[in-house]
Amino acid sequence: MRQSLVIGNWKMHGSLAANAKLVKNLAELIDGQCAQTALCVPFVYLSQVSELLQQSAIAAKIALGAQDVSLHLNGAYTGETSAAMLVDMGCEYVIVGHSERREYHHESSMLVAQKALAVLQSKLTPVICVGETLEQRESKSTLDIVGEQLSAVKNVIGSRGLARSVIAYEPVWAIGTGLTATPEQAQSVHRFIREHLGNIADDVSIIYGGSVKAENAKILFDQRDIDGALVGGASLNAQDFFTIAASFKCDGSI
Ligand code: PEP
Repeated sequence: MRQSLVIGNWKMHGSLAANAKLVKNLAELIDGQCAQTALCVPFVYLSQVSELLQQSAIAAKIALGAQDVSLHLNGAYTGETSAAMLVDMGCEYVIVGHSERREYHHESSMLVAQKALAVLQSKLTPVICVGETLEQRESKSTLDIVGEQLSAVKNVIGSRGLARSVIAYEPVWAIGTGLTATPEQAQSVHRFIREHLGNIADDVSIIYGGSVKAENAKILFDQRDIDGALVGGASLNAQDFFTIAASFKCDGSI
């Protein structure tokens, strides 16, 4: 379903004490924002954060998500976490294909597609990350790269699977670098992605990620095809995350 959506990606940050403080601060702020929100936290803290969200009565406003998943359903895969386990922990969203996984763990688009399938089979929503490196942008191959990454996923999960997914456009050069794509650069790739989705284009949320901050969220969200954000660094600060989520107009135009 196409909706305004702001997802925090805590990456490998947090501690029992820091998480409790962050969720407490969020609970004091979150109210009346129009975007759906979610927090994708490290596996080991899913249970804690799930409880914290429920205790502070904000579980209906902030969904829980994971940052990765195994493509396997269960079995002898030491160190892996299955989608069914994420269901047990109360997750609704699972990030797949984040550029840090593609780069540091050599995840191919085929593997990303299989992970997205595993997520869908467990009735969760995959947040499928796509995006080009700086070198690829400079060689003007952004749309080819993003198109290939999307097609690889579509070949495995089909249009029906894509219609149940969220797409996150994350230019690799803008992640954690402080560099943000201009609203025009981001909009033009989001437009391309929407066209690529064909007849399900209006069913899918396409969110932007790459140094989204309280200061630049609104101008990004004003773009026609940008439905929200995947927020890394700024999601670790309750005020910043809330300000980003509250940057949406509440006119129901999506
Ligand atoms: C991310 O982790 O997906 C991300 C976009 O990080 P940041 O907001 O820190 O650039």
